[in-house]
Amino acid sequence: MRRIYLDNNATTPVLPEVFEAMRPYFGEHFGNASSIHHHGQETRAAVERARDSVASLLGCQSAEVVFTSGGTEADNLAIAGLTSPGDHIITSTIEHHAVLHACKHLEEMGCYITYVPVDGHGLVDPGDVRRALRPDTKLISIMMANNETGVLQPLEEVGKIAAEADAYFHTDAVQAAGKVPIDVSRIGCDALSISGHKMHAPQGVGALYVGKGTKLQPLFYGGRHERSRRAGTENVPGIVGLGKAAELAMQRFERGDDSRTSALRDRLQQGLLAQVEESGVNGLGAPRVPNTSNIYFDHIEGESMVIALDLKGLAVSAGAACSSGAIEPSHVLTAMSLRKDRAHASIRFSLGTQNTEEDVDIALALVPETVARLRELSPVSKEQAVTY
Ligand code: PLP
Repeated sequence: MRRIYLDNNATTPVLPEVFEAMRPYFGEHFGNASSIHHHGQETRAAVERARDSVASLLGCQSAEVVFTSGGTEADNLAIAGLTSPGDHIITSTIEHHAVLHACKHLEEMGCYITYVPVDGHGLVDPGDVRRALRPDTKLISIMMANNETGVLQPLEEVGKIAAEADAYFHTDAVQAAGKVPIDVSRIGCDALSISGHKMHAPQGVGALYVGKGTKLQPLFYGGRHERSRRAGTENVPGIVGLGKAAELAMQRFERGDDSRTSALRDRLQQGLLAQVEESGVNGLGAPRVPNTSNIYFDHIEGESMVIALDLKGLAVSAGAACSSGAIEPSHVLTAMSLRKDRAHASIRFSLGTQNTEEDVDIALALVPETVARLRELSPVSKEQAVTY
């Protein structure tokens, strides 16, 4: 069976060029980047080259890039590292749990958190951010692109609000990096998180941009790695992979490959809407990253759909996740005021650079027939739908 992977917001395959760039750092180039001998100098140089590439991707200076173990650590480092007990933090209801749970923990430690809502398109209103400001607001953390809908937030306006209020501004750009160009000075942020495995680098590596002069408390204590902002021996192969993936992403932007991705995504989306009645796109009308489409197919149950499609070789994900034995609708879709049954009936399709026209054709054949079969087998009835 041919397997088609349209779940690139969960993780992406490592590109062959990335893998080849990493390979020597598992073998002959094994040195600890802190060692002063030849072996260490070799890996140090590789880490610094990767730092330059990541800095170019983000439009910042190399010294402003801190390598981490991934997006979750970058988010935690920014949020905990820029605040202290007693501070007020503004974030949104649609953030990834790496941000929401970090904020929840800080609340238990004595911080005050305001969660700004989103509208039906999944967009934060910068006016709400402004209204949430307090004299003790230390940090605003609003994501760049949402992982479930792909919706891009109006960050430049939030950046201006943060600057006027003299508050730090962090953005979780994990789902934006490699998909849309990023320029930290345009955004006006003090910190920005990225993750390797969402942009065709390996899992377990990421980076946090921290603007020059920003006072960041580390999460870990140990050696003076990463200019004392992140102790721990560097994951050299992972960092090299992230650097290579950043270079390849910039080349894709130069070639205009993002318009190829959005054309594929739009063809998939339009084809599905045309073939399946009572379906629609979550976040339609808002600016979105080019690779993501979150679609509801009324009267189906998302998890069953994911399983049925997987049996046919198509990997996607559902807008609901099983937590503590119960299937909970996604907090993102419910924050967008989606009906509960619709949140349960939503499927996320997310493309990567490896996907082809043929992948989309196959998805366009498999999804409508699967929806039809599920609706026939165990339809979530209209009556049930409205009683939620
Ligand atoms: N932030 C967003 C928006 C994400 O989508 C993810 C991963 O799904 C993360 C943070 C966490 O990144 P990582 O998996 O590298 O820890």
